[in-house]
Amino acid sequence: MKIARLLKNKRQIFSFEFFPPKTDEGEKRLFETIENLKELGPSFVSVTYGAGGSTRDKTAGWVIRIKNELDIEAMAHLTCTGTSCENLKRILDKLQENGIENILALRGDKPQDTNSIAQMPQCYNHTNELIQYIHDNYDFCIGAAAFPEGHTESPSLEKDTYYLNMKSMAGAEFFITQLFFDNRLYFDLLDRASKIGINKPIIPGIMPITSADQVERFTSLCGATIPSDLRERLHEIRNDRRAVMELGIGYATKQCQDLLSKGAPGIHFYTLNRSSATRTILKNLKS
Ligand SMILES: Cc1cc2nc3c(=O)[nH]c(=O)nc-3n(C[C@H](O)[C@H](O)[C@H](O)COP(=O)(O)OP(=O)(O)OC[C@H]3O[C@@H](n4cnc5c(N)ncnc54)[C@H](O)[C@@H]3O)c2cc1C
Repeated sequence: MKIARLLKNKRQIFSFEFFPPKTDEGEKRLFETIENLKELGPSFVSVTYGAGGSTRDKTAGWVIRIKNELDIEAMAHLTCTGTSCENLKRILDKLQENGIENILALRGDKPQDTNSIAQMPQCYNHTNELIQYIHDNYDFCIGAAAFPEGHTESPSLEKDTYYLNMKSMAGAEFFITQLFFDNRLYFDLLDRASKIGINKPIIPGIMPITSADQVERFTSLCGATIPSDLRERLHEIRNDRRAVMELGIGYATKQCQDLLSKGAPGIHFYTLNRSSATRTILKNLKS
């Protein structure tokens, strides 16, 4: 089912994001993880597309398996950075032929090295162009990314909202946010979007903290801020894995409860292929 329809039909939706593993063993484990998540009734599962990475060809195969073998709604991420027009068409045709109905259209992160950028195939520079192409040529429900703190390359939040609106006008039917830890940032994003006339659902993206090193690495890459009280607490317990996990689960549970009670359309969980924290949070939310 198209995610736009799920968002219209359901009071709140819950989704999980995974990335394609590199090894056969990793693939076997991930399939079991997703199979076990089925009992939690996810609204959909999404699979990332590694910009320039070795696993990018696996995304389509994964979503087709999740939808057809596990009977869970699935969404394929697709980036335009480093992907030729022929390759985009090949992937979209394959997804459509296999009954996939949802795409998260993205640009992807550019490699630091400018020489490798020059050598990469490129069809579109920005996501609004990719969305327009998919919208004009296919019947997918298209989602896109939104940034509560603004995208790292954006000169201002106003400019960021302007480009968000371009994605909406090109055909994005919903948005999923970058991870964030302060809910005010999400509600400020909703205000900015509504002021410019964007009336599509914006699903908050939540990453439960399971490791101090990992969350610090991730936030420095994507430009998300860790609030100072959370950062300090994390610093105090960083070598105690169990305490970090408990802190992460407790923090994310409270964050999600607040978002949902104030009208968020659901939660998209960045699982990093580990489902135990997400399972506990979802159970907390449903109890
Ligand atoms: C939910 C989610 C899932 C993600 N999944 C993946 C994934 O699977 N694989 C992956 O590689 N990355 C993924 N990313 C990361 C994403 O690709 C990067 O954040 C990327 O840098 C920006 O993508 P975008 O689609 O927002 O790009 P764009 O919308 O193209 O924006 C990129 C920058 O350019 C500006 N801009 C936008 N449109 C224009 C325009 N027309 N002209 C000039 N400037 C413009 C924007 O303000 C922004 O600063 C994900 C991010 C999120 C939030």
